[in-house]
Amino acid sequence: MNNTEILDIIILGSGPAALCLASELANQDLNIKCISTKSPYDKWSNTYGIWASELEELGLESLLSHRWSSTVSFFGNGLDKKGNLPTDHKYDYGLIDREAFQEALLKKCNGISWVDDKATEIYTINKISQVVCESGLILKSRLVIDASGHKSKFIKRPFSKKVAQQAAYGIVGKFSSPPVHKDQFVLMDYRSDHLSKRELSESPSFLYAMDLGNDVFFVEETSLASFPALSFNFLKNRLINRLKKRGITIETIIHEENCLFPMNLPLPLKTQPILAFGGAASMVHPASGYMVGSLLRRAPMLAKQLNIYLQDPSLTSVQLAQKGWKILWPNELIQRHKLYQYGLKRLMSFDEKMLRSFFLNFFQLSTNEWAGFLTNTLPLPKLIYVMTKMFVKSPLNIKLGMLKIN
Ligand SMILES: Cc1cc2nc3c(=O)[nH]c(=O)nc-3n(C[C@H](O)[C@H](O)[C@H](O)COP(=O)(O)OP(=O)(O)OC[C@H]3O[C@@H](n4cnc5c(N)ncnc54)[C@H](O)[C@@H]3O)c2cc1C
Repeated sequence: MNNTEILDIIILGSGPAALCLASELANQDLNIKCISTKSPYDKWSNTYGIWASELEELGLESLLSHRWSSTVSFFGNGLDKKGNLPTDHKYDYGLIDREAFQEALLKKCNGISWVDDKATEIYTINKISQVVCESGLILKSRLVIDASGHKSKFIKRPFSKKVAQQAAYGIVGKFSSPPVHKDQFVLMDYRSDHLSKRELSESPSFLYAMDLGNDVFFVEETSLASFPALSFNFLKNRLINRLKKRGITIETIIHEENCLFPMNLPLPLKTQPILAFGGAASMVHPASGYMVGSLLRRAPMLAKQLNIYLQDPSLTSVQLAQKGWKILWPNELIQRHKLYQYGLKRLMSFDEKMLRSFFLNFFQLSTNEWAGFLTNTLPLPKLIYVMTKMFVKSPLNIKLGMLKIN
């Protein structure tokens, strides 16, 4: 590239956020480059789960490698028959076929070129952004979109002392006996009969598990959100003890997953000269930790609007970024985010007994209500209605827990 070329857009990253947005922007007649420390063809390592309806609504359900109709959770204490009763979600869940997903997005990224480098500095001169890379390469662009994940050092946001992390330790493997029923998906197994009195007073965690077929299962001990984060070792021991209590030992480990990401990163400042998308833009659902559905839903509108703004040659990098932030985080979504953050903060103060009681009650909501809450697809008035309904139906100790201000 000649050093005076000014691109329309530079995207940082080659993860799900970068590819979801790049694949939509590629439809427009724009000059785009992506800079990433990883090749877009390097396989993604995370396991991405999603409610099947989220892909169905976008006509993308063929991207599921696995789909379960038997989807349950356990919110009893596990001590007796009643304490082992499952809550039946009656709602399909799936695992995204990572390779197919990545391939499908890349196929749509026609005309976008990739630079294998690390962005180290970004500044704005004469209304144009410049990205300085580790190799010394400098690229200029009217707009920079940071999709380099939640650890981005470029995106400014209000300082928060206590950012809660979702942490999980998972194993894909073979076991002495099935950890979940055949063809079953377990969203949350909060049974706690394997924990000592001391362990019960520690931070709660649950089992997320699924039958992958051919005697292979994925089991993951998960801490919904905690500050400080629970360690992988702690979660690994919890997982082993949980399985042991059911008389199950691990026979073969095919893959291990260490999962750690922030749940309630403050929203980025909307006055900064860089736009972001994905983890860097705090798009993780603060009450569930999911993000892929939201990336797929929000990328097309953002891409379309950015294309319109870029048609105006007088707009500077700062103005383009600010307009982008307004599309990505409109007031409606900001208000919903605040409600979710409040809910998460309260949940984090609950002990395991209260959490079990809370979730048991939560999944008594209608399917549209709880699924809409978990996928962030309820309009604000409906979200307020659902949260109020949940509050009214909760036992007194949960009501008090939801109200406590600290
Ligand atoms: C183990 C795990 C499991 C998860 N499971 C789910 C799930 O089941 N469902 C769900 O919806 N969400 C899930 N999440 C949450 C979220 O969807 C993921 O974190 C997702 O990968 C975030 O996407 P991203 O593209 O924003 O960031 P990342 O996937 O982190 O990608 C960042 C990209 O930026 C590049 N990069 C970094 N720094 C630079 C730089 N300075 N210059 C250039 N490039 C750079 C990296 O190479 C990478 O390509 C999970 C997260 C983890 C960690």
